[in-house]
Amino acid sequence: MRIADVVRAKGSAVATIAPDLPVSELLRTLADHNVGAIVVVGPSGVVGIVSERDVVRRLHEVGADLLSAPVSSIMTVDVYTCSPSDTVDGLTVVMTERRFRHVPVVSDGELVGIVSIGDVVKSRIGQLEQSQDQLQAYIAQG
Ligand code: AMP
Repeated sequence: MRIADVVRAKGSAVATIAPDLPVSELLRTLADHNVGAIVVVGPSGVVGIVSERDVVRRLHEVGADLLSAPVSSIMTVDVYTCSPSDTVDGLTVVMTERRFRHVPVVSDGELVGIVSIGDVVKSRIGQLEQSQDQLQAYIAQG
């Protein structure tokens, strides 16, 4: 199973925000899209990612002033991205080892989707169910 299959199944919509917008706007975007992370996009493409975890940690450190600070002040700049041709199994390993739950999908420098740990788990459960059905059919045939 490839990342392209996951993106095809879930759609290519990605919630994004500009780096100079305030964190209060980021909170609105997270809530409006009902997602756990927002990809930060500048004129040159992906420049960062911010997850709910970043907001919670920085809110604890900085307090309410964080709401007016720019998104760029809390984003992770070293973004790990994947390609549509990568395998779901390979990405599962990366997400588990690096402890992040969101990976933007980039093709030819363009943002074409985002995969969450939930999407990866769903895809793997689908694969397991398919294998189980095939085995049961094989056994039933005698
Ligand atoms: P998450 O598990 O996605 O809530 O993110 C946990 C931490 O990893 C946060 O500091 C995020 O900014 C960061 N993070 C999330 N996704 C990525 C990614 N694809 N590449 C690099 N860092 C990430």
